[in-house]
Amino acid sequence: MTQRVLIVDDEPAICNFLREAAETEGWEVQCADCSDQFKQLLTKQHNVLVMDLMMPDTDGVELLRYVASIAITAKIILISGVDRRVLQSAQVLANTLGLGVLGVLSKPFRVADFIALLGSELTTAPSRPTATIQAISREEIECATRNNEWVVYYQPQIDIATQEVSAIEALVRWQHPQRGLIFPDSFIGQAEELGLIEELTRAVIAIALCDLAIWRAQGYVFNLAINISAKTLTDLSWPDRLHQQVLDAGITSDSVILEVTESGLMQDFATSLDILTRLRMKGFLLSIDDFGTGYSSMQQIMRVPANELKIDKSFVMNMHNHENAQIIVDHTIQMAHKLRLRVVAEGVETAEAWHSLAKAGCDIGQGYVISRPLPADKFTEFLRHRQWPAVLAL
Ligand code: C2E
Ligand code: CA
Ligand code: CA
Repeated sequence: MTQRVLIVDDEPAICNFLREAAETEGWEVQCADCSDQFKQLLTKQHNVLVMDLMMPDTDGVELLRYVASIAITAKIILISGVDRRVLQSAQVLANTLGLGVLGVLSKPFRVADFIALLGSELTTAPSRPTATIQAISREEIECATRNNEWVVYYQPQIDIATQEVSAIEALVRWQHPQRGLIFPDSFIGQAEELGLIEELTRAVIAIALCDLAIWRAQGYVFNLAINISAKTLTDLSWPDRLHQQVLDAGITSDSVILEVTESGLMQDFATSLDILTRLRMKGFLLSIDDFGTGYSSMQQIMRVPANELKIDKSFVMNMHNHENAQIIVDHTIQMAHKLRLRVVAEGVETAEAWHSLAKAGCDIGQGYVISRPLPADKFTEFLRHRQWPAVLAL
């Protein structure tokens, strides 16, 4: 399939230089020298947009906002002669706008770096359609529970030092009879709004405990991590029901890690703390998910009886093209260890990131470099063959 790139830069020399480089790699190239021309040329067929941040007639940030507003799925490469930190902030902004950024290049840059970024478009996962789902109704969700349409995928969390599977994270999908496989970002929020999240979580836990029992019987020893919605942490009677469900499945609560997002914890801190403390007393392990993305104070975080901290993938995925991300990851690991918390890094996509995390002392890694989330049968094969890249061995 033809790969198409659209370049916008007011300097013709740069446009030509990039055009030649991309064409040599077999790309179909179009160039624009101003934002108006860029807007005219831009179509949904473009795979990559190369955008100069500083142009005389517009600023690149405005242009980013324009691209985001028309729901373009092309990946973006940002270039500019401005300070690298400005480029990096623009990258963060683009991510916040929901745009996929392949990387940033400060002028002058090497053609090889440009080609490498362009090439990474072919290997990165296609962006998932998130807006395809029209409002999901209460009936549909209830029906999904009744008809067992929830499917659980598993992603391994690997102990970086021993290379053993330390835990698996259960990630729900919806096998919809008409709409196909739907990812959680498209329905978890709605289930929360409709007050149906506890039932959904209960269904996910039931499936995951059942699968865990099978893997246990086959001799595998690892914990099970479950995502818990903030809404669930407002119901004081939930810990007892959860405990009973886990005991009924023949699993001990100290094999279950409850992943709670940092922002979720803070919605009603007093109630969350009450619930989390009781869960810990019942033996469950607690993990603070998406760490670094909320706005909680350290003082609050330190009061949560957590066992583990999960560094959000937005930092881990940017470690190698964003100095600040690397600094945040390193410091988070040190801080967590001082607080006697185990550290999990999610979103580990490259061997390079894996090695940086190992060097920084991170305990556990999770991400595409090891395995994508897999359905139970595929995950059993994964366990059997342990087929992750040898390059990850330290
Ligand atoms: P999360 O808890 O932060 O889960 C990690 C997400 O990152 C997963 O997306 C996973 O597939 C993805 N991921 C894993 N490794 C990589 C990587 O190397 N690179 C990249 N780019 N992504 C990676 P998924 O499965 O679509 O889940 C999205 C979110 O939905 C989860 O984010 C979690 O917040 C929520 N979720 C999933 N299952 C459940 C559930 O059973 N209950 C609740 N309440 N929320 C759930
Ligand atoms: Ca999680
Ligand atoms: Ca996360």
